[in-house]
Amino acid sequence: MDRKIALVTGGSRGIGRAICVKLAEEGMDIVFNYQSGAAEAEVTGKLCEEKGARCLMVQADVSKSEDCDALIEAAREWGNGRVDVLVNNAGITRDNLLPRITDEDLDAVLNVNLKGTFYMMRGVAKLMLRQKYGKIINMSSVVGIMGNAGQVNYAAGKAGIIGMTKSLARELASRKINVNAVAPGMIQTDMTDAIPDSAKERILAGIPFREMGQAQDVANAVAFLASDASRYITGQVICVDGGMAI
Ligand code: NAP
Repeated sequence: MDRKIALVTGGSRGIGRAICVKLAEEGMDIVFNYQSGAAEAEVTGKLCEEKGARCLMVQADVSKSEDCDALIEAAREWGNGRVDVLVNNAGITRDNLLPRITDEDLDAVLNVNLKGTFYMMRGVAKLMLRQKYGKIINMSSVVGIMGNAGQVNYAAGKAGIIGMTKSLARELASRKINVNAVAPGMIQTDMTDAIPDSAKERILAGIPFREMGQAQDVANAVAFLASDASRYITGQVICVDGGMAI
């Protein structure tokens, strides 16, 4: 049987890298993008190939619709016309208290996290409708569910992703294309390394498991949603958060 093609955004580091490697381990061939981390992307590519996958890496800025279209076209050509799984993982933060969030901080976060996810879903959904198969998995956050002081801009994007996920799930349900979201809590990556230790302690105190999650924990949930075991699940948000959002 042909190997499935998975397209993952922001695969060069952190959660995105863990997702690429996990899906490779599950027998998929992987297309992923990086924005500026070419050397990091090479590492992800190598790790996927070690799992026996073919791998294509593409430089693309998901905040630009033309870059998203080019990324999807590259994946389509490389994958013999198919994209079976789309994981919208690329994301950034520009944290601050609301009065200090500039227009630029708001635009940057919404352009990558919300509009990037929109552009990718719009392009790939067309392909999935034609091929009558597809799994779309969007990376939200518990912050999009619970809110978080200092992340009004980020919360807007991540809550918006949940709304887009549920809406597109309804649009594509008649074709049995699954659209779901994963909402990580606090996961150990470069993104959370930037949080000061004192703030981390406060966040940890609110996590029932009293520990940070690992990128692998998120990748495992994504792999389930990308597999046919999730056949009857659509429009859902799975929290991977040690109980943070209970
Ligand atoms: P990370 O370590 O900072 O990695 C971010 C990834 O996104 C990198 O591969 C980066 O590429 C890529 N990226 C950034 N801006 C991009 C752009 N404009 N176009 C294309 N790619 C871009 O982040 P992470 O912690 O793994 O987070 C991954 C996702 O999970 C994000 O959506 C984040 O919001 C979400 N999340 C994370 C946590 C957490 O605790 N870590 C919690 C909840 C949700 P380069 O390497 O080229 O820069």
